[in-house]
Amino acid sequence: MNGKELKETLFNNKKNGWDSTTDEQKGEIFKFADEYIYFLNQSKTERELIQTAKDILLKNNFKDLNETENLYAGDKVFYINRDKSMYIAVIGKEKFENGINIVGAHVDSPRLDLKPNPLYEDSEFAYFKTHYYGGIKKYQWTTIPLAIHGVIVQADGKKINVNIGEDENDPIFTITDLLPHLAMEQMEKKLKEGISGEDLNLLIGSMPYEDKDGSERVKLNIMKILNDKYGITEKDFLSSELELIPAFKARSLGFDRSMIAGYGQDDKVCAYTSLRAILNVEKPNKTAVCILSDKEEIGSMGNTGMESHEFDTFISELLNKSGENRPNLLDKVFCNSKMLSADVDAGFDPIYANVSDKLNAGKLGYGIGLNKYTGSRGKSGASDANAEYVAEIRGIFEKAGVPYQLSELGKVDVGGGGTIAYILANKGVDVIDCGVPVLSMHAPYEVTSKFDVYCAYRGYKEFYDRKG
Ligand code: MN
Ligand code: MN
Repeated sequence: MNGKELKETLFNNKKNGWDSTTDEQKGEIFKFADEYIYFLNQSKTERELIQTAKDILLKNNFKDLNETENLYAGDKVFYINRDKSMYIAVIGKEKFENGINIVGAHVDSPRLDLKPNPLYEDSEFAYFKTHYYGGIKKYQWTTIPLAIHGVIVQADGKKINVNIGEDENDPIFTITDLLPHLAMEQMEKKLKEGISGEDLNLLIGSMPYEDKDGSERVKLNIMKILNDKYGITEKDFLSSELELIPAFKARSLGFDRSMIAGYGQDDKVCAYTSLRAILNVEKPNKTAVCILSDKEEIGSMGNTGMESHEFDTFISELLNKSGENRPNLLDKVFCNSKMLSADVDAGFDPIYANVSDKLNAGKLGYGIGLNKYTGSRGKSGASDANAEYVAEIRGIFEKAGVPYQLSELGKVDVGGGGTIAYILANKGVDVIDCGVPVLSMHAPYEVTSKFDVYCAYRGYKEFYDRKG
């Protein structure tokens, strides 16, 4: 055998996925990407995503679990937790006791939230004060068009939905930055200190109220506009959740249109692909479950985050309604279950090559990315998937011809990260991180490869149908 042939047999030959894509497959990949881009533009916040997902599920014959008495093999149900997270299931032919197949993504993304007392006037400008959510590089959030999405809930329970800055006819908002001419001192600062959290104030108006008597007339004018439009007073901000997110739309990226640029692809890309995959699951052997969780970006805490017992309660409800429940069965179900923690991975960026170990970096266009472990500084805090389980997942992907790659998040000791993987692993579930590589993760505009997005969809579908 010559060396070239021997290499082909013995080496792990990583290949650019586009090289082995037929024109027909390319058509499918691009069509899927268009549908994903449309979805992204409808679903920029966790609440909007859950609403869009609910509409999609209802159209595809999924039913609200609360309106379902008994569950049988093939039944399709969902459960929405406080409009911010969701669990979806297709009931399998096998008993739950044998374990279930879970794909878990998150639907929250880094952003700026309004403070509870946000509105103020300074030098005849009106502003909203913000508190950033998740890990951001603060300078990236200045001088870009921002939209306001969210809800205001009044003391009597009336809920007002807010979405302003997306429509071409809407105004947008922005956070100003210093002109370079006067930024000598600012430019000397460390990048992380260049813009302080308390300076992320959103510019929202500059026109005084018509009555020239009194102070804070610009603020008053804004409050008057908001009162006319939404019927709110300043106190109603106390019980609001208003999020500032980039006002630009997700688009195809590159002359070759091979990539997607969009806000919130961490982790809406995995949320969308795992949702799309479960739509096509029919009478699986094992029950297939899709998790769309909230609060991952701030540690999965709270009753809409994955640390909450809400998910256990959901599975218990499935056990009850399928007539299978008995004391302590839930623990056994978890111990026999398998999961893909569907979250994005850092894609290798040649401009910043020095933070990656090239041999172990996820690459755009090379397929769905598996992270055996995450964590930082000697794998601290990592959920490290067992080799036996990694082998099983590899086997599933290889058999189905789903391109995949195994990678690490950056070089050793350069940084690190985590996902919801450990939470389910702590319950006894076999879990591995499995998602799409991203460039500019956590930035207002994140980049993915259409090839990988489609691989994720295919990979999750194969996993939901996992037997054994
Ligand atoms: Mn994520
Ligand atoms: Mn993230």
